[in-house]
Amino acid sequence: MPGVAADGFPPPPSAGHPLRVAIVGAGPAGIYAAEALTRQTDVPVAVDLIDRLPTPFGLVRHGIAPDHPKMRAIRDTLHRSLDHPLVRFVGNVDVGSDITLDELRAHVDAVVYTYGAALDRHLGIEGEDLPGSLAATEFVSWYCGHPDADRGRVEAALAGARSAVVIGVGNVALDVGRVLARAAEELEPTDMPQHVLEALAAAPIEEVAVLGRRGPAQATFTTQELRELGGLAAATVLVDPDELVLDPAAEERAAADRTVARNLAVLREWSAHVLEPGRVPLRLRFYRRPVRLLGTDRVTGVEVERTAVDGDGRVMGTGQLEVLPADLVVRSVGYRGIPLPGLPVDERSGTVANDAGRVLRNGHPSPGEYAAGWIKRGPSGVVGHNKHDARETVAALLADAAAGTLRVRGPVDDLVQTLTARGAEPVLLDDWRAIDAAEQVLGATRGRARTTMHERESLLAAVRAAAAR
Ligand code: NAP
Repeated sequence: MPGVAADGFPPPPSAGHPLRVAIVGAGPAGIYAAEALTRQTDVPVAVDLIDRLPTPFGLVRHGIAPDHPKMRAIRDTLHRSLDHPLVRFVGNVDVGSDITLDELRAHVDAVVYTYGAALDRHLGIEGEDLPGSLAATEFVSWYCGHPDADRGRVEAALAGARSAVVIGVGNVALDVGRVLARAAEELEPTDMPQHVLEALAAAPIEEVAVLGRRGPAQATFTTQELRELGGLAAATVLVDPDELVLDPAAEERAAADRTVARNLAVLREWSAHVLEPGRVPLRLRFYRRPVRLLGTDRVTGVEVERTAVDGDGRVMGTGQLEVLPADLVVRSVGYRGIPLPGLPVDERSGTVANDAGRVLRNGHPSPGEYAAGWIKRGPSGVVGHNKHDARETVAALLADAAAGTLRVRGPVDDLVQTLTARGAEPVLLDDWRAIDAAEQVLGATRGRARTTMHERESLLAAVRAAAAR
């Protein structure tokens, strides 16, 4: 038992009574937070890394496109933190239903929220909810084999789709456009679930358009991701040279930003492309904002307004409308975070109010509550950005422990025992290893390194089968 310090409060953390930290969300931000906590030795810690899925890695598993195996390989690095003796992976636990936030907070001395930004943003236009119109979050979850993906909705939208329009020009939009334009043979070696490979192979996609509401100089995709579109086996990127013409002031601003300058150079090279027969055109179109989706039983087109961009990069309508045929529309206009029951999230920003990672309630730091990753700063940056972000949060947590505002309370029941006693089925590290092995075995049946198992029940069946052996 930790006992009582001289000041009458619980004592500071010690080797025998480490600070118990629960991290909610085992994606990159959560894993980097665990890494930052276990790499230091000033404050003894014991970390529970909780996820509502039976699997770790968050968007590394269910966001990074499966045709990006090198990026997905960051799992191997992240796994080192899962293997750390001071870290316990506790998957398949939903904070809010399996255990309330208050109960969790009573079990540990500090909580770090790293559960990301799982929801899509809406366009707020007519026709957005028609069959055939999807959010990128839905499509990405589906092709990555997320257990909560709505297979029926996505596969119904894909079946019979010839003309696809992707709205947005960020990296997620490029992922979606690229996956739609890929030949089946290119996706075959990936870890996509078998039903995903089959549905994509069967979809009769003949053309893909990716739409930016502003110009090429304002697109948020990065050059490496853009350039990759030029290497597709069966698709040719087409860009209208007229849309690449900037006035001298805009050209000067573009030249000052390395990413924009490089993007423009790539786009200008592609503007000379000619479509060869039999290849899928992948059109990157700018200065078009969606006004409404057309159709009655399902999407048949997107009405767009031609736009112009002012000197500050703001979009302005021109009143000029046109219709782009589309029987599949994927809006890729950003993600947003949602509240956990008991944790308020700002509706507009989709983030938890925080000061350098210290969660604010009513404008003041809430003792023992921290946030990192997309729920802290919003949906921006690549996986690596979460490392710096998580370190900042952990630095705040450690400073609070050093200042004596974060103490070891006790005694408390073990979290996993509590969860198990109430009928939850926590998935621990060895259980995850069983899932990992089962996915590799499944992949090997088709000559692949791995096939992602997408049903929660199959994931749990792999755990139970290993436990029974
Ligand atoms: P994003 O980069 O913020 O892109 C959102 C896009 O949606 C922008 O083009 C935005 O245009 C557009 N948009 C927003 N509202 C719109 C509206 N009402 N109508 C039309 N267009 C609208 O976000 P993201 O693509 O979802 O990516 C999220 C983060 O993950 C980014 O940091 C991204 O780099 C990262 N990511 C990285 C990779 C990779 O490295 N391979 C892959 C995927 C994602 P405006 O600019 O005009 O608002």
